[in-house]
Amino acid sequence: MKECVNLILEWYLDNKRFLPWRMDLDPYHVWISEIMLQQTRIEAVIPYYQRFMERIPTIQALSEIDEDQLLKLWEGLGYYTRARNLKKAAITIMEKYGGVFPREYQEILSLPGIGEYTAGAISSICFQAKEVCVDGNVMRVYCRIQNLDLDVSNIKVKKEISLQLKKILPEDSGSFNQGIMELGEVICIPNGQAKCEICPLQRKCKAHLLGKENSIPRKIQKKEKKEEIYTIFILQYQDKFAIRKREEGLLNNMWEFPTEKGKFTLSQVKKKFPQNLCIKKAVTYQHIFTHKKWILYSYYIEVSTMIEHYSWVSLEKIEKDYALPGAFQPIYTFLQKK
Ligand code: SF4
Repeated sequence: MKECVNLILEWYLDNKRFLPWRMDLDPYHVWISEIMLQQTRIEAVIPYYQRFMERIPTIQALSEIDEDQLLKLWEGLGYYTRARNLKKAAITIMEKYGGVFPREYQEILSLPGIGEYTAGAISSICFQAKEVCVDGNVMRVYCRIQNLDLDVSNIKVKKEISLQLKKILPEDSGSFNQGIMELGEVICIPNGQAKCEICPLQRKCKAHLLGKENSIPRKIQKKEKKEEIYTIFILQYQDKFAIRKREEGLLNNMWEFPTEKGKFTLSQVKKKFPQNLCIKKAVTYQHIFTHKKWILYSYYIEVSTMIEHYSWVSLEKIEKDYALPGAFQPIYTFLQKK
């Protein structure tokens, strides 16, 4: 494995991709990019990152930003708690560390929204700490190099791999961590697509030498996602639409078009909104979360008066000032095309 460490380092230093957050070793830049990269592809993150840095260039600016503006910048990335935690962590850094990003792994780990992986990435990349950051890509590469037929969804396996990697971390831990991650992203990829023919480890990797690169690590059956059914009411009064903040459950505190559990019939909708002038069925679609699947039905309802308890805003204002979660974007698109 030690030889592989050097090969990964050399490969990374020669081949690393030019990415906006790699222009310097500023922990603020690495932190924001790492949080954005959780569950989102690099290509998709780049414009978000650039927009974020233009609007919020410092930890202080992040600690002071209005939450709705922050969520608007985050719109489309999903997992809005992550954005809220960024602000909470920035406030902690301002209050506890005088606005300077902490250097120690344990201090970084104690910030809101930062787990072991992110703390390991920031402390090794920016401060050369001997810390690892282990995700699915890293575990896949490690298991293949060692030909380990393990269940990488098991937390004990992850802990053991972290422990073993920590023992062999080189001086330049940041480059090694980024190298093994990047190798897993662009060469040692899953689903039978490993590009062993261009991999710097092809002569050392046990799984490849045994022809087992595509069966390692073990495939895990994904659990069925729980289904939930909702109906969305697209209420229009003149050029304004009704929106409100969600008050519970998934996407709590995010803006939505009024939504209720269950599938409503046309007559139920008529009864619910007696001020209707016209009701039409609108779009039906699904939205997939990590553990859930929403089936969404919707009705377009023109009303004769602005019903209380909702905020009534134009489509242009929604676009400019309100962060709509991805689950409601098809409604927004439907209205744009209307
Ligand atoms: S040789 Fe193939 S299986 Fe082994 S690390 Fe490289 S890409 Fe992955």
